[in-house]
Amino acid sequence: MEPAPVSLRQLPSVDRLLQTEAAQALVQDFGRSLTLQALRARLEAARDSIREGGALPETLELLAQTREALHGWLVPTLRPVINATGVILHTNLGRAPLSAAAQAAAQAAAAGYGTLEFDLPRGTRGKRDLHAEGLLTHLVGAEAALVVNNNAAAVLLALTGLARRKEVLVSRSQLIEIGGGFRIPEIMQQSGAKLREVGTTNRTHLQDFQAGLSERTALILRVHHSNFRILGFTAEPGLDELAQLARQHGLPLLDDLGSGALLDTAQFGLGHEPTVQESLRAGASLVAFSGDKLLGGPQAGLLVGDRDWIDRLRRHPLARALRPDKLCLAALSATLLHYLREEALEQIPVWRMIAAGAEQQRERALAWQAALGAGEVLESRSTVGGGSLPEETLPTWVLALQARSPDSLAARLREGELPVIARVEQDRVLLDPRTVLAGQDEPLLAVVKSARAAEE
Ligand SMILES: *Cc1c(COP(=O)(O)O)cnc(C)c1O
Repeated sequence: MEPAPVSLRQLPSVDRLLQTEAAQALVQDFGRSLTLQALRARLEAARDSIREGGALPETLELLAQTREALHGWLVPTLRPVINATGVILHTNLGRAPLSAAAQAAAQAAAAGYGTLEFDLPRGTRGKRDLHAEGLLTHLVGAEAALVVNNNAAAVLLALTGLARRKEVLVSRSQLIEIGGGFRIPEIMQQSGAKLREVGTTNRTHLQDFQAGLSERTALILRVHHSNFRILGFTAEPGLDELAQLARQHGLPLLDDLGSGALLDTAQFGLGHEPTVQESLRAGASLVAFSGDKLLGGPQAGLLVGDRDWIDRLRRHPLARALRPDKLCLAALSATLLHYLREEALEQIPVWRMIAAGAEQQRERALAWQAALGAGEVLESRSTVGGGSLPEETLPTWVLALQARSPDSLAARLREGELPVIARVEQDRVLLDPRTVLAGQDEPLLAVVKSARAAEE
C-alpha cells in the first residue's frame, strides 16, 4: 500500500515548536525575534518540501536545522585570514595590513571622542581636513592635499569638480579597467565630463593632445596603466610635456597614479613604480593615489597638488559625500608619520614585506617544513599586487605540499578558525612566508596540520 500523503496540517505550528525545550534554548542563544524569524523560514521550507511530495520532518530535526540556520546568519562574514599567497597587496584580502602605530591610532579614535573637527586651544569648531593633510603636504612637498574615501572617489571628485559638462583629454592607451569595476570611461561618464580620446592604443604623441584641445577642454588626465603593460612599438608623452601644455592653456593636469609609491621600489630589485613626488616635480597640478596600496595605510583616496584646484574640490558638495571617517584619518596620519620619521621600511608591513630578502623566506619555509615533517622548500616568486608593478616579482622560497587533490587541501586550509589562503600551482599547495605576518607561524602550522590529517 502507498503511504498516506503527508498533510501540511501535520506540521507543528510556530507556537507549538516554541514550547519545546530545544526552541527555548534557541531563544536563549539567539533572542526571541530572530528565533521566530528562523522558525518561520524553516517551516515554510518544510511546507514547500511536503508540497513536492517530501516526508514530514521530525520536530527535533526541524529545530536542529533552525539552529544551524541561525548560526549561519550570525557568524561574521568579514573574518581575519592568514595570507600565504605571496601577493602583498591582495585586494580580495583587504590590501595593506596596518602598522602597529596605525592600528593603535585607529583604536584610540574608535574608542572615544576626539578632536576630529575641534580646535582645542580655541575651544571652537575645527577642521577635519587638518589632520592627515598637513602631514601629506610636508611629505610630498605639495601646496595642498585632500583626503577622500578611496582613489576611485578622488578621481571622480576631480573630474566632477573640474570638468563637468566639459571635455577631458586622455590617451587611448590609458582607458583602463582595474579590478572592482573601476573603468576610466565609466567614471568619466558618471562625473558628467566628456571623454575626448586622443592618439592610438599603442602610440600617443604630444601633438595628439595639442590637436585635441579646444575651448571645451577643462582638464588633461593621465592614468597609470596599473595592471597591464604595453610593449613594443609604443609611445606616450612625458608627464612634464603634458604639464607644460596644460599650464600654457591654464588647464589642470590630473595624474591618476593608482598605487602612488612614496619610496622607490627599484631599490628592492623591482621595476620602478612612479612616485608621487616625481609626478609633482614633473608639474602635475593634481596627483591622485590610494591609501591602501603602496602607501601601506587604510583605504583612502589622496589628492595632492596646487592649492587653487584642491580648494575648488574641497568646496564641492561631492567632497562632503566622499569624506573619510575618523578611524581612517587616525590610521592614515600614523602611517604618514612613519614616512616623515624615515622609518617606513621598518614600520609599515607592506614595505617590510617588499624589503625582506629571499633568504629570510627560505629560513621560515625550512622551519615550517621541520615543524610539519612534510613538504618541499622550493624557489618561487612573490608579487606586489594592488595594480602596481605588473609582471614584476620578488624572489622567494615557499613550502610546497603534495596532495592527492591540491584543490581539496587548499579548501581544507580555508576551513579553520583562522583560515589560511594558499596558492595552488602545478598540483601542489604553496605557502609563501613573505605575506604571513609575524606571529602567525604557529596558527598557520596548526591549520596545515589538521588540514593534512583530514586529507589522510
Ligand atoms: C587602484 C587604482 C584606482 C582605484 O583606487 P581605489 O583606492 O581602489 O579606489 C584608480 N586608478 C588607478 C590607476 C588604480 O591603480
